[in-house]
Amino acid sequence: MYDYYGIYASCRDAAWRCQIDFNICSLPVKVHAIAKRAGIRIVKNKDVSELRAGEFGVSINDGYQWTIIYDDRMSLPESRLVVAHELGHIFLGHEYRYPISRFAFTNRKHSFEREADMFAVRLLAPAFVLHELKIIDADGIAALCGIPMSVALERSRRMSVLESRSRYYSSPLEKRLHERFLPWITAVAGREMRSELDENSEPEPEVTAIIDSEHPY
Ligand SMILES: [Zn+2]
Repeated sequence: MYDYYGIYASCRDAAWRCQIDFNICSLPVKVHAIAKRAGIRIVKNKDVSELRAGEFGVSINDGYQWTIIYDDRMSLPESRLVVAHELGHIFLGHEYRYPISRFAFTNRKHSFEREADMFAVRLLAPAFVLHELKIIDADGIAALCGIPMSVALERSRRMSVLESRSRYYSSPLEKRLHERFLPWITAVAGREMRSELDENSEPEPEVTAIIDSEHPY
């Protein structure tokens, strides 16, 4: 069996460690790729009908392999969040809730659930990246990180606190990740600056109009 179960003891550092271990250096974080590299299967509920009423995702261990099953009727940002949350349960080594090895993503918020939520949001929306890109509004965070708006709103509120404290990079993990993300951060920041310049420069309406009328679609 793959022994990724419980590899991260500290919830505080878990998302950073996960990003380091699975070579994350850009957003949106590819949760499916992390699962694949960790030997965890991801399955749509429509293929297995495993979810109980009120569940959005579960992690099941058959003694050999972990399988995450998610409600595929959700939006992409929602399903990304659920998969990240389930990865949190597995990587943090939470005790199983049911006799068969099974975690469930439901509306009930126990401490394990809160920890898995914290892991998920920190994995998908790392604060130092938002800080470096100066993207701290909910719309921007949702778009950049591929997370639901409700979660982006919470993250945005949290970012305001973190920005006022301005204590980034006190952890060596975060420092290391910053180095890894730097090429991507620089590229994104450069792209944003260019598009700002484009917005401010005069458009060329005549040429555009000719092209549009020749290709009406
Ligand atoms: Zn859960």
